[in-house]
Amino acid sequence: MKSRVLPLVLLILFLCTGSAFAKTVAGLPLHVEKFESGAIRLWIGDHISSTAVVAVPTSRGILVIDTFGVPEVDRELRSAIARELGRDDFTFLINTHEHGDHTGGNAVYADCTIVGHELVPENMQRDPADRERTIRWRTTRISELETEIAAMAADAPERARRDEDLILARLLLANAQADNAPPPPPTRVFADRMELDLGDVTVEMFYIGGMHTASDIAVLIPKHGLLLTGDTMADVWLTDTPGCLASFSARSGIAHDFPRWMKNWNHLLDRKDEYHTLLPGHWNGELSHAGAEARVRYVEALWNAAEQKAAAGGRVEDLQAENRLADRFPHLAESPGFAEWTNAGTALEIWCCMTGMESGAQALYALIENGADEAEIRAVVDQKSAASPKYFFVEAAINQLGYRFLNQEQPEQAARLLQANVEMYPESWNTYDSLGEALLATGDREGAIANYEKSVELNPDNTSGTDALARIRGSELAN
Ligand SMILES: [Zn+2]
Repeated sequence: MKSRVLPLVLLILFLCTGSAFAKTVAGLPLHVEKFESGAIRLWIGDHISSTAVVAVPTSRGILVIDTFGVPEVDRELRSAIARELGRDDFTFLINTHEHGDHTGGNAVYADCTIVGHELVPENMQRDPADRERTIRWRTTRISELETEIAAMAADAPERARRDEDLILARLLLANAQADNAPPPPPTRVFADRMELDLGDVTVEMFYIGGMHTASDIAVLIPKHGLLLTGDTMADVWLTDTPGCLASFSARSGIAHDFPRWMKNWNHLLDRKDEYHTLLPGHWNGELSHAGAEARVRYVEALWNAAEQKAAAGGRVEDLQAENRLADRFPHLAESPGFAEWTNAGTALEIWCCMTGMESGAQALYALIENGADEAEIRAVVDQKSAASPKYFFVEAAINQLGYRFLNQEQPEQAARLLQANVEMYPESWNTYDSLGEALLATGDREGAIANYEKSVELNPDNTSGTDALARIRGSELAN
C-alpha cells in the first residue's frame, strides 16, 4: 500500500508545484517569481534577455511595471498576472523608460493610466524608416539563425539558446510586419519625482535618466521592499548575453542631468532600509545594494574630478587619462557594465553636462554626415580659438570619427572631417597620416602623398606612413 501511495502523492505534488513552470508563452517557458509581499515578476525564456514584468496588487487595483514589448505576448502575460493574483482589476502601468522592449505592449494596458518620465512620449516616436530597417535586419537575422541551427547537433550546448533567439527574432519580425498603431504613451508624466497613492501602497518614482536612456526612472515601493531600476545597472549577469544591461555608461546624444541623477540616487541610497530587493528591468541581471552604491559613488567621483579639472582650466582628455578604470576605479574594472571605453564616454558626457560645452568632434561629424557646407564647418572649427567657445575639441575623438566614416565606406566625409583635424592640430603627425589614408580612399593620390610626406616629416618614426608612401609610389610605377 505504502509503495503505491507515495508515487501518487509525489505525482500530485509535482503537478501542483510544476504547474506555474509548465506554461509557455509564444513557445517560450513562462517564469513567475513570487515575492513574500505578494508582488510577482514574470518573464519568458531561459536564455534570451527578455524584459521582466512586475505586478503589484494594491487596494486601488493592480499596478504593472513594464511590458515585454510585443502585444500578443503581453496579452498572455496580462492573463498570467490575473491568474496568479486571482483578480483582474488592472489600473496602472509604469514604463521605466522609453525603449520598445518596455513600452511596446502599452496597448494591452490602454484601459489603465500609463505613467512615465516626461521624455518617454516623444522618445517613443519612431521614424517610419526604422520599421523597414527592422524588417530587413530581422529577416536576415532569422535566416542566419536558421542556417546556424540546421548545422547544429540536437544536443549541442548552444542549441537551446539559438532556438530561443530564433523564436524571439520571429516574434519581433511579425510584430514589425503587423504595423500596429503606435503603442499609447504615458499620459501621467513627471520630470524629477512623482508619488502615486494606490490606497494601501505608495509608489514613488525618481528620475535617474542619462545612463541608459534620457527617460530612465527608478520605482520605489516601500511596502513591498522593492526598488526597480529599469535598464540602468546590474552587478551580476545571470547569462552571457546581458542585452540591455550590458553597459553602465552615460550615452552620447541624449539629455543628461547629472546633478539631479546624483541627488535622486543619494536620496534612494539614504533610504536603503526601505527596500531589500533591487530589480533590474530584465530577468537576467541582478543588483545588490553595494553594487548600486558603488555605481553612484563612481559617477560622483568622475563628476568631482571633472569639476576640479574645469576649474583649473584643464582639458577633457586629461580628465579621461587621469580617471582610467584600471588606475582610479580598479574595484569596478571587472564589474558588469564597465569597460575603459564606457568609462571614457561617461567622463566625456559629464564634462559636456558640467561645462555646458558640446563635443566639437560630434558636432563636426553630424554636420558632415548631413552634408553641411564649408561655412557651417568653418563656424565650428573657428570655435577652437574662440574666447568662450561652445565646443571643446579632442584630436583623438575627431580622428576616431574620421575612421568611423571610413569604415562606413564614406571616404569623402572622412576626408572632410580629417581635413578639419589637420587644420586644428597642424603640429600632429597623426592627423596628416589619417587624412592621407582618407584621401587615398577617395582616389586623390597626390593629396594622399602630400599628407603622408608631411606626417613622416613631423615624425620620421612613422613607419606606417613610409610604408603607405612606398605602396602608393610602387603602384604608380606599376601603372
Ligand atoms: Zn532599454
